[in-house]
Parts: sequence; C-alpha cells; structure tokens
Amino acid sequence: PLQLNDIDFSYNKEKVLDKVSIQLKKNQIVSIVGPSGSGKSTILKLINGFYNIDDGKILIFNNDYLSTDINDIRKNIGYVLQDSNFFPVTIEENIRYGNMDATMDDVIEAAKLANAHDFILTLPNKYKTMVEENASNLSLGQKQRLNLARAFVKKAPILLLDEPTASLDMHSAALVQKSIKDYIFTYGASALIITHTISNIADFTYVLDNGKITESGTHQQLLDLKKLYYELYITDAEK
Ligand code: ATP
Ligand code: MG
Repeated sequence: PLQLNDIDFSYNKEKVLDKVSIQLKKNQIVSIVGPSGSGKSTILKLINGFYNIDDGKILIFNNDYLSTDINDIRKNIGYVLQDSNFFPVTIEENIRYGNMDATMDDVIEAAKLANAHDFILTLPNKYKTMVEENASNLSLGQKQRLNLARAFVKKAPILLLDEPTASLDMHSAALVQKSIKDYIFTYGASALIITHTISNIADFTYVLDNGKITESGTHQQLLDLKKLYYELYITDAEK
C-alpha cells in the first residue's frame, strides 16, 4: 500500500534524507533501523504528511501524495509517535482520540488487540474501569499498549510505529510485538516500524545511516552481514 521512491528531504537547508526508497506491501511488517539522528522519525513524519518532500515520490495505494488530499491519506494511517502525549483523562477517552467515531465495542476491540486487557478488560467491571480510570496512573508498558490501542481503533490499513518497544522490559516488548502481528492479521494491514536494533518480527528491514539506506534485507540476511555484527543494530542476545 505504500511506496517511497528516491525521497530527498531537508529541514531548513540541512539535508536529512537522501534518495530514500522504501516499499511496504500488504500484510508485511517492515522495519527501519539506524543510529540516533539518521532520519528515521523524519521518514514517518513525511508519510503522515507533516512536511512536504523536496524530491522523489510517495505513493499510497498507487496514488501520488502530490495529488491526494491529506485527509484521505491520513484515513489510511494509524500512527504511534516516538513521544506520544498522554492526556490526563480516562483510558477510554485516550483510545478514542484515535477515532472519535468509534463505538464502545470498537474501543474494547482495540484495547484487546493491543494486549491491554490485563489492566483494562479483566477487571471486574471492564466498562466502568475504562471510563473511570485515569490514564496517567498507568505504568510505562501499559501506556505504550494504550498508545497502540489508540492507533488500532482507527482500523487503518497502514500502521506507522516509531520505536514502539523503546524503554520497555522484555515482557512488555514481547506483548507489543505480538499485538502488532495480531493487528496485521486481523485487518489485513501492514506496518512500518522504527527500531534501534534489528527485529525478527519484521519481514524486511532497511538500515538507515546519515539519511541514506545503506543495507536492506530479511532479518537473517542482515544477521549474516558481518559488517553489521560489529555495529549496534543487533541486540546482545543475538551476538
Ligand atoms: P532517534 O533515533 O534519536 O529518534 P531519528 O533517526 O529518528 O533519531 P530524526 O528525528 O528523523 O532522527 O532526525 C534526523 C535529523 O533531523 C537530526 O539531525 C535532527 O536533529 C534533525 N531534525 C529533526 N527534526 C527537526 C526539525 N523539526 N527541525 C530541524 N531539524 C530537525
Ligand atoms: Mg526518532
């Protein structure tokens, strides 16, 4: 559903992305890895139409961004930002920010898919809890799963996730990864995920360095690259 062809982009005059090409196919999970400052978040911001590209082409369902209404583009995108803001309101209202037209059933479905049921839906009166509990009281891992629920409730065919497992413990990270897979499966969607280390949930990975794609391949293909072995893209457990 999504294609980036030879994207160039600069903030002010400093070039941040140089001829970046990325393809996301239906039912795929694609990841972008790379060091801090390499331009990863910028790619997601361009896809969500926060800025206009300088050169190249972005296609969504084969429609050029240049000739497509930004609202029509965003209808197709669920986005989890790197620094998601939390509103000091209830869990239900926080999820609803992702889709103001959602019914209560939609909200519960999104919470379930986001593996948020352990702190929302198994409590004695699940409805009462969601509409009364303040989201500020949640732990970091719970907040991140709530973030996912907020993106999921749109049921969009494309998910953009900016470091969804950053600073989570292994258990919370695994829950987040599982829920992304479940979302893809349930809605026939696709996900573009930014991570700091290469992730085995991705079908395909691009390595971004200083605004350029330097390598790409499957998880195994990248593990096989001796060159990457010595860099920081691989978790300690895989070395
Ligand atoms: P991290 O892993 O730390 O999140 P990143 O790969 O996501 O890094 P980006 O946030 O895309 O990196 O930033 C890429 C470059 O663009 C950096 O040098 C950053 O300082 C710069 N940059 C980002 N946002 C802006 C902005 N709004 N105005 C000017 N420069 C920016
Ligand atoms: Mg970033």
